[in-house]
Amino acid sequence: MKVPLLDLKLQYNTIKDEIEKKALEIFESQYFIMGPEVTAMEEEFQNYLDVKNAIGVSSGTDALLIALMAIDIQPGDEVIIPTYSFFATAGVVSRMNAVPVLVDSDPVTFNIDPAEIEKKITSKTKAIIPVHLYGQSAEMDQIMEIARKHNIKVIEDGAQAISTQYKDGKCLGTIGDIGCFSFFPSKNLGCFGDGGLVTTNDDELGHKIKLLRNHGMEPKYHHKIIGGNFRLDALQAAVISIKLPHLNSWSEKRRQNAELYNRLFIEKGLAETTGIINFDHDNKVLLPKAVFKENADLVNYHIFNQYIIRVENRDAVREHLTKKEIGTEIYYPIPFHLQECYKELGFVKGDFPNAEFAADHSIALPIFPELSDEQIKFVVERIGEEI
Ligand SMILES: *Cc1c(COP(=O)(O)O)cnc(C)c1O
Repeated sequence: MKVPLLDLKLQYNTIKDEIEKKALEIFESQYFIMGPEVTAMEEEFQNYLDVKNAIGVSSGTDALLIALMAIDIQPGDEVIIPTYSFFATAGVVSRMNAVPVLVDSDPVTFNIDPAEIEKKITSKTKAIIPVHLYGQSAEMDQIMEIARKHNIKVIEDGAQAISTQYKDGKCLGTIGDIGCFSFFPSKNLGCFGDGGLVTTNDDELGHKIKLLRNHGMEPKYHHKIIGGNFRLDALQAAVISIKLPHLNSWSEKRRQNAELYNRLFIEKGLAETTGIINFDHDNKVLLPKAVFKENADLVNYHIFNQYIIRVENRDAVREHLTKKEIGTEIYYPIPFHLQECYKELGFVKGDFPNAEFAADHSIALPIFPELSDEQIKFVVERIGEEI
């Protein structure tokens, strides 16, 4: 049985007719960049996320970059970020000539550890970028409290977490000052190329982000501020509009798949329970602590953009799964503090133990909504053979 990490064709087949029809309309119109498709998509997100401003942009990375430009990050300013995330979170800070100030992860959720944030705040700290890694919310209550106390802006990196809600039902991307999302094809809501979204409830920031998206221009050829070309294509917006009505059911399928994985690993005696952080006799596989909608002690939901387990012999397990035609990935093998480009920050191995533990032991298993129960069982059995 083949189990790919992701099979986008299965999802495409369910909406193909609608997308083909729309694509042909756009080709006929010869109106490719921005325009009514983008405006319609933005309005749909304002309703879906319950946010005042949703602004379509060219990618998730550009969403983060614009967010930093919008809050006037200056060279030498410090921006607090987790050391364990996709590189874009750090890269945008450096591209603004600001200083990325790295923080270790929580060992259960892999998200930035709020207890470590406050220790890193200085008079130069201008922003915090919590990442809702793998589709699970960062500890936004604590992060917002720290940020408000020190008058620091919060930019949510929700690139892996569109449709995740926080404990009070608020959508991620609407809690901080600015939210950033990615429509990269492999994300849980992907378009047919690059695309992204910026959200904010602050109308002034919203207006500035719209200006920044198109060279700071208003009206045409009058440049109020210096922006860039961060515009979104009509085709990408149209694809997202067609997919958006399905997003909640796709997220629910991801959660169900994760629940089945967790249950099977426990039934097979490979794990005792979820959310354990150290390997021991009963926990050979460390499972994500999924917090589901129906749980009474609701902390937040997890939409499982990625389903990540940790195993001691990660590389051997991965090799075995590859041989059995099961797709896996390592998100992310090297935290920022050990990346070559950040050598000058002066960190060494051991400085952020939780992030390093995750980098050394994590393996992402197939979790996409169209996965069958048989495929999930097959994956768990094959892992059992190598543990
Ligand atoms: C994918 C991703 C991004 C960047 O999004 P792109 O659309 O690929 O530019 C940023 N942050 C995180 C956490 C991501 O996973």
